[in-house]
Amino acid sequence: MEGNYLHLEFPSLPPNVGVVRVAVASFAAQLGFTWAELEELKVAVSEAVTNAVVHAYPRDPGRVRVRVRLDGGALVVEVEDEGVGIADVERARETSFTTDPERMGLGFTFMESFTDHVEVWSEPGRGTRVTLVKRPSTSRE
Ligand code: ATP
Ligand code: MG
Repeated sequence: MEGNYLHLEFPSLPPNVGVVRVAVASFAAQLGFTWAELEELKVAVSEAVTNAVVHAYPRDPGRVRVRVRLDGGALVVEVEDEGVGIADVERARETSFTTDPERMGLGFTFMESFTDHVEVWSEPGRGTRVTLVKRPSTSRE
């Protein structure tokens, strides 16, 4: 199944968070993740997509892309927007850092806790791309 991938594109609207969550978990099932690992993956993906929905486009909804692929026995999920971007990525990733006083600032912390690797590319005015990598604890291959 190496080489398999799934691409999704949608506007930054809240109902799409749940759609992506289920789609990515379904795709991930072919890798032999445990139920608990799939739950972790769903949380991490939801946090990344929620960020694109909540923060990337303060005015009108904009385009969000999610790309999922299998890579050397791992699942790689990229969540990308073309929104406002993040001025200081290192700071944004700190636990409890948020630019919205209504929120907790825990999204990146959950992504880190529930995957094996998190990468963030962002540029103010250009957008943000979050890459999540997760390996199943017991591989089918
Ligand atoms: P929570 O996730 O707990 O609801 P939060 O979204 O503020 O709160 P994080 O998900 O950790 O916390 O994100 C930290 C900060 O990074 C956000 O407050 C926001 O300023 C910025 N950020 C994250 N993702 C994006 C994005 N896609 N576009 C623009 N800014 C972002
Ligand atoms: Mg968040």
